[in-house]
Amino acid sequence: MEETQERRVGKTVRLDSAITDGRAHASRAGEMTVGEAQEQAEARRCLGCDGAPPAIFLDLGRTPLANSYVRADDADRAEETFPLAVAYCEGCHLVQLAETVSPAKMFSEYAYFSSYSESFLAHARRMAESYIERFGLTAESRVLEIASNDGYLLQYFKRRGIGVLGVEPAGNIARVARERGIPTMECFFEPGAVAAILREFVDAALIAGNNVLAHDPAINGFLSAVAAALKPRGVAAFEFPYIGELLANAEFDTIYHEHVFYYSLSAIEGLARRAGLEVFDAERTAVHGGSVRVFMRHQGRAPIVSAVAELLEQEKASGLLGFERYGSFGREVANLKDRLRGLLGELKADGKRIAAYGAPAKGNTLLNYCGIGRETLEFTVDRSPHKQGRLLPGSHLPILAPEELLGRMPDYALILPWNIAGEIVGQQRDYIRAGGRFIVPVPIPRVLEAGGA
Ligand SMILES: [Zn+2]
Repeated sequence: MEETQERRVGKTVRLDSAITDGRAHASRAGEMTVGEAQEQAEARRCLGCDGAPPAIFLDLGRTPLANSYVRADDADRAEETFPLAVAYCEGCHLVQLAETVSPAKMFSEYAYFSSYSESFLAHARRMAESYIERFGLTAESRVLEIASNDGYLLQYFKRRGIGVLGVEPAGNIARVARERGIPTMECFFEPGAVAAILREFVDAALIAGNNVLAHDPAINGFLSAVAAALKPRGVAAFEFPYIGELLANAEFDTIYHEHVFYYSLSAIEGLARRAGLEVFDAERTAVHGGSVRVFMRHQGRAPIVSAVAELLEQEKASGLLGFERYGSFGREVANLKDRLRGLLGELKADGKRIAAYGAPAKGNTLLNYCGIGRETLEFTVDRSPHKQGRLLPGSHLPILAPEELLGRMPDYALILPWNIAGEIVGQQRDYIRAGGRFIVPVPIPRVLEAGGA
């Protein structure tokens, strides 16, 4: 599932700007009403350039956290919800949540081990090999990874005799990494931690970070810490989902509270510059349905690869440097919601029974934004034993084992992890043979033909 590559980033809450929930307000601001709280939230300045408040282009409403799966015992308890709206800054082009939730709140129950995913391990191995070759890393080199998880990436450097250090805030995961022989510091990567990291590990020739840049609201501090920990001629390599893909494929459901930022190269380039770094190369990769890998170093060390200028130019041409493109995306998403609700409504009116397939975080954004719940969908199924027996946050669909799809035989199943629809269809041939049909919601809601995707 696509959220298997998530990382935890822990930070203190930015109380000046990060509005959490109504209760937090009540305790801080006494008699502030919800309306006033909203107004204050909207006035938050840009997290990138500290300029005027960014303009909201998509408001997904108040939703529970996408990864807060509900225990069956807690079904009757009210869930905590948080505003989820995305905004664009005219000043620095950074796309960001208009309000953020404390990462400590979000990642408290987050427990994923990267090495569980075969395909991601293969990706990590290729990544390590390409970095070793390209930057001429040897046994004398040292590699630092931010949010290093269980050592899924660093293991491939270590095998080549390269010195490694992981930085991983989750204690249980850091322990697993150490047991596997990957030295790992248990802390958040932030300016306050750099001195301690440098006592352990100086002169990193390479600092790597995968899917971590989106999680930390204090992005300027994060990049300053990267600059401080990087050797004079060292390279920092970050990979993250690309906003160009999000816009082009209507992937609005990848927006949830854990993801504070949605990067263009234009935005990340400006942020790097502010931290004394520069992006000297950028490449698109297929992982996560379309990501970008950027390479940074201290400013003025060597020429900038032409791919950077090319992608910046492409972003300008496709409208990523103006509000209009984002505004039209917002309208497109509203349209998708209407179409999906319309499609499911027609099927229900025909007396059809409908369920869902999968319980990914993004499915919760989709269902909660579209207002689809148990009145429409009977249940969902998911392969993860950790999710089975729980309820989806917000919609409260019960999560069952995949065999239940054939067992209960709804007429239709809405695929929530639509990025792996082909794989799911392949696994559920029996359901299709028995007359079941799959629905894919994104980018355009449609019923798949019996033959597959
Ligand atoms: Zn800005």
